[in-house]
Amino acid sequence: MYRYELHLHTMETSRCGHVRAADQVRTYHGLGYQGLCVTDHLHREYLSLMDCHDDWKACMDRYLYGYRLARKEGEQLGMDIIFGVELRFPENESDYLIFGIDENWLYQHPFITEMDHQSFFDRFKDEVLIIHAHPYRNNDTVFYDCVHGLEVANCNPRHDSRNELALALAKANPHLFRTVGSDAHRKGDEGRSAILTEVRIPDSYALKDIITSGAYTLWCPEYEYILKECEAISHV
Ligand SMILES: [Zn+2]
Ligand SMILES: [Zn+2]
Repeated sequence: MYRYELHLHTMETSRCGHVRAADQVRTYHGLGYQGLCVTDHLHREYLSLMDCHDDWKACMDRYLYGYRLARKEGEQLGMDIIFGVELRFPENESDYLIFGIDENWLYQHPFITEMDHQSFFDRFKDEVLIIHAHPYRNNDTVFYDCVHGLEVANCNPRHDSRNELALALAKANPHLFRTVGSDAHRKGDEGRSAILTEVRIPDSYALKDIITSGAYTLWCPEYEYILKECEAISHV
């Protein structure tokens, strides 16, 4: 089985990240992971700190820095470094993991950071995979009809992500895909969760296919009870 992290930040791009991209990759390699998806934060506030103003191309050149460093290190080690984004809209503090995209897609869709969840879903739902990260961490109302899936266990140790509420939402909506993520920002966050697959995941498009086909299992020892209950959902 191959092991993949689906939620990870780099210090070079995410303001809240404390670990260099290359160090993240090396640590995950040491833990036996075959790969990881870099999901650095993308939203108005972080872009405003990047000093790229209204030049979307310049912003993306800057934004992609962490991912590109991770990729470079991954190539040395034979790791699959997958591209993803943790997107937030100005409307509130909900975060969405976007899979099934590449660097070019980002360049071609300027200022998606200025949209809202409803218009983003309406426009891109057939094109990309939208997973609600830690749905209940920052809010009580989750617009689950505008996502394809839920992160049922977010394993970041410094936040109360209220995963049990995410589980309840997943149970009530069995059609939503389910993922887990370590949400690794600092040393010690890494390797708390994974998806396990029979085949390798070379890129973000393959990741989208794996999730939508259901060809993976969730792994997260800390939230074993949540995963057990998720298993039961899929057998309904
Ligand atoms: Zn963060
Ligand atoms: Zn995150």
